Amino acid sequence: MNMVEPQHFNGLRGELALNAPLARHTSWRAGGGADAVYTPADRDDLSAFLRQLPIFEQVTALGLGSNTLVRDGGVRGVVVLMHDPGGVLAVADGLVYAEAGVACPKLARFAALHDCGGAEFLAGIPGTVGGALAMNAGCYGGETWSYVARVETLQRDGSFAVRTPSDYVTGYRSVRRADGRPLAELFTAAWFRFPAGEKTGAREKIRELLARRLATQPLDLPNAGSVFRNPPNDHAARLIESAGLKGVAIGGARVSEKHANFIVNPERRASAADIEALILHVRRVVAEKTGVELEPEVRIIGEAAA
Ligand SMILES: Cc1cc2nc3c(=O)[nH]c(=O)nc-3n(C[C@H](O)[C@H](O)[C@H](O)COP(=O)(O)OP(=O)(O)OC[C@H]3O[C@@H](n4cnc5c(N)ncnc54)[C@H](O)[C@@H]3O)c2cc1C
Repeated sequence: MNMVEPQHFNGLRGELALNAPLARHTSWRAGGGADAVYTPADRDDLSAFLRQLPIFEQVTALGLGSNTLVRDGGVRGVVVLMHDPGGVLAVADGLVYAEAGVACPKLARFAALHDCGGAEFLAGIPGTVGGALAMNAGCYGGETWSYVARVETLQRDGSFAVRTPSDYVTGYRSVRRADGRPLAELFTAAWFRFPAGEKTGAREKIRELLARRLATQPLDLPNAGSVFRNPPNDHAARLIESAGLKGVAIGGARVSEKHANFIVNPERRASAADIEALILHVRRVVAEKTGVELEPEVRIIGEAAA
């Protein structure tokens, strides 16, 4: 039985859907749904929702689902859809403020427009600001947390907190709480300190970075970016290619011919089980042939189909 019922809530302005699919909210366009999906109207509405949600209900944030595989049996509890095409972006006191639901490419363009440098790398990351904070997303030498001045978070009881980078330990695609607590809070906004730059140069750099991606990544097919983290001093793509795995398929999922660390869903018929089986297969074959155990970068959530 679904424990999250619309009649339990008062005064919400967002949308609550029960037993809702999530495939279209993930860049793999695959996988199951959730017991309940909440799309908040804004930060305050999300806070009101969490205050009224029974405390035992599990809450999972999903941004643009560009780093997430939802297993076919779906996610128990509530998935909160954080992406907000109308999310606030602003400049104040030398900092760029972005709500968590803003898409990273939009933040990159906004920062460029306001003569900031350093944010160009975000133009090619097809996720939200919240997802970038949770993952410490980065590329081409830039990393999200290098520029964070402070973040706003929402705790499970619906109260907001403001935290600084010293509250976290961040590294390559890794963010942990400095006090050892689980990273359970949702990111709702961030203030970034980007170095002074210059509009035209920043826009030119964005164009170059996007062209480089288009040339090297299968952006025309559903995918979730790099599936595996790069091991120290090496590249997962090189190891996967050297193990002869380019083009290998399981069900509807295939190791990209263009970029070996990408798994694509070319005909949009892959199940999450196909994708996960291929991830495990690649991991096993690479370990057998090269001795390196690849660690997934993508987050796998939910339960397998019964
Ligand atoms: C074509 C392509 C290229 C990519 N290139 C890069 C790259 O160069 N560098 C890179 O780092 N990544 C890259 N990625 C992966 C992905 O875009 C990033 O990891 C991105 O930061 C994920 O953001 P998202 O909003 O889609 O997160 P989701 O996939 O929705 O979520 C990822 C994780 O973040 C958590 N999360 C999301 N929002 C919040 C929030 N508001 N508060 C708390 N937790 C939250 C989720 O619970 C989940 O654990 C690429 C992906 C694709 C498809």
